[in-house]
This record gives sequence, C-alpha cells and structure tokens, in this order.
Amino acid sequence: MRTTRKTLIAPAKRVIIKIGSTVISTAEGLNRQRIEELVEDICAVRELGYEVIIVSSGSVAAGKKDLGIVGRPKTIPLKQAAAAIGQSRVIRCYRSAFRHRGGNVAQILLTRDDLSNRRRYLNARNTLMTLLEYDVVPIINENDTVVVDEIRFGDNDNLSAMVTPLAEANLLVILSDVDGLYDSDPRNNPDARLIHEVERIDDNIKQMAGISSNELGTGGMYTKIRAAQRATMNGVGTAIINGTKPGNLQRFFAGEDIGTYFIPNIAPMAAKKQWIAFTKKPRGKLFLDGGAVNAIVNHGSSLLPSGIKGVDGGFDRGDAVRLCDIDGNEIAKGVTNYSLAEVLKIMGKSSNQIVDILGYKYSDAVIHRDDLVLSSSDDNELTS
Ligand code: GLU
Repeated sequence: MRTTRKTLIAPAKRVIIKIGSTVISTAEGLNRQRIEELVEDICAVRELGYEVIIVSSGSVAAGKKDLGIVGRPKTIPLKQAAAAIGQSRVIRCYRSAFRHRGGNVAQILLTRDDLSNRRRYLNARNTLMTLLEYDVVPIINENDTVVVDEIRFGDNDNLSAMVTPLAEANLLVILSDVDGLYDSDPRNNPDARLIHEVERIDDNIKQMAGISSNELGTGGMYTKIRAAQRATMNGVGTAIINGTKPGNLQRFFAGEDIGTYFIPNIAPMAAKKQWIAFTKKPRGKLFLDGGAVNAIVNHGSSLLPSGIKGVDGGFDRGDAVRLCDIDGNEIAKGVTNYSLAEVLKIMGKSSNQIVDILGYKYSDAVIHRDDLVLSSSDDNELTS
C-alpha cells in the first residue's frame, strides 16, 4: 500500500514554493488576481507552521509590454531590459498581497556565480536564514539583468532546486499551469493519465516529460523533472502541482493526493558535497591514472599529485574540477587546493616533493576526500 501524502510531507518544515511565469501572468502582464489567490494560500500554509521561501518568475512577462514585445523577447538584451522593468512590479504585487494579510517580503536576486563562490553562497544563506528568523518571506529570482550564459541558472526550475540546499529546505513545491506529470501529453491525448507518485526518476519518467517549453516561462515539464531529480537526490521531496487553481496549495498541504510527488532519496549527501556536486560549476579537468581512479572510487581516498597524468582548462585554487580517467570518463568532481599552474608543476610527483617544487604546500592532497564527490551517469547530466 502506498504511504499517504500526509505522512510523506509531514516531516517538512521549510518549503520552497516555485511559481512559474505561466501561473502568474497573461500575455498582457502580471495576473494580480492570481497572485492574491496564491498569497492567500501561502499565508494559510505559513499558518500551519511551515516556513516558506518563494522562487518566482514573472519579471520578463511583467516588463515586456512596455518595450512593445509580443511573445518571447527575441534577444538577450531585450529579455534583460524587460526583466529590469518587470522585477520591481513582481515584488510590488507580492508585497501588497502579503501586506493585506499581515506578512512581509524581501527580494533576493541571484546568479549561479553567486552560489558557486563558497563565501557568497554562505553570505546568501545567512541572509535567507535571518529573513526567516524575522518571519519575512524571501522572494528569489535569477538576477536576469546581469547574467550571461556562464553564470546563468538557465531556468527557475533549476534555480529552485539549487536554492533548496542553500536554504536547507526539506520540501520543494513547483507550481505550474498543468496538474502534474502525465504518462503522455494531455494536450494531444485525452486518455493521458496523471502520475501521482514517482519513486525514481528514470529514463521512462524523463520520456514522459518530453522536451517542451512555453512562451512565457523558460521551463517545460522536462526542466521540472530535472529540478525534481536534483532535489530528490539531495533528500528533498518534490511536488509538481497546478498553481492556477485557487486552494490547490492548501489542499496539497492538507495531504490531498493532487499533482505529482517525487519521493526523496533516503541517503542524501552532506550539504557541502551537494554544493560541489550540483551548484559549483567545474572549471577544468584532471586526468588520473588507474591507481588514483581505483583509490578514489573504491576506497574513498583523497587525490594526491602522484596520480595526476594530465590537465585541461584553466582553474584556480578553490575552483571545482572534474576528475576523469585516462579515457576522459568523469569519475568525480572536487574542489582543488592547487591552481592549474601549480598542478602542472607537481603532477606525477609524490606529496613530500611539493614544498621543494613550489616552495610552499597547502596540503598533501590536490583534492581532499571531504571536497570530493563521486559522479554517476545521472548527475553528470545534471551538472552540465
Ligand atoms: N527569471 C525569469 C523571469 O523572471 C524566468 C525564468 C524562468 O521562468 O525559468 O521572468
């Protein structure tokens, strides 16, 4: 027998609620009525004792009309300009809806780069924690006006999954304009069935999600499944429910079987390892000999300079790098203690030669085992 929804979500305390553009906007701009309805629901969820962090899209949808844009902005600068116009509108709408109900909000704009840098990551986390402590609802969006490809989250489904470990949240609820994940596209197939519960996100599930995007948001069902995969691997249950139906959030938190719920992995990674595996962007590659691969994969060892056969890309001390076998297959990711220039000098050498070669030593290991995460074919796909 299936565990009831109520039992599954009961242990959650801190919740990320991701609200897509299609939920809170129309072709004309923001849908204020919808935002009011959602905030009504969110306040009721807060009343139940949950701490709520919102990840909301909608800035582009809210600003594009001022630039005469119909449909999706055609260029990145246009999208960024629309976001610059729209972001304050989005926050103003939430602020007024929360204010009417005695709540307060704060805006947090992030780029992926902010979360890749451990110090900025910890700063962002401190801010989030302080806001929650003071009972303020943080509203997060990507800092669209400054992002370029290398530092983008890409879509807010991904952003919401990356924010989950940052906020130490234990439930992710993605609000969409569809009822959840179907076994086939409900727009083409009237017999499509809603999947209520997913135990493991395998190829079959990914196939059901297809690859689609809609006009206002960046994500389709596929990006939601990827976000669910990221979150559940980190031990966070994820739900996709319809956010266009008033009361749906409350029904979900009351334990009703609506939407699709993705069951979390039981053995999640430690927060720092999650950050290395999913958030920090790798800057280069180290190619290892068979002995080092075996020591890391089968014995949980640190990476010593002696096992490094080659390097690729430019990286500094503190950057993440991919560890590959000699054929280029990724086996792990880790944060390096030495820069590219330093690794080039010490690779193949034993650790007690480091001081003689460099004149100093940060550590015997190029990557310490605590800063190393093994890769699987699943998460290689997720860390791109
Ligand atoms: N950050 C974008 C916005 O506020 C949305 C990105 C997305 O929906 O995935 O419009």
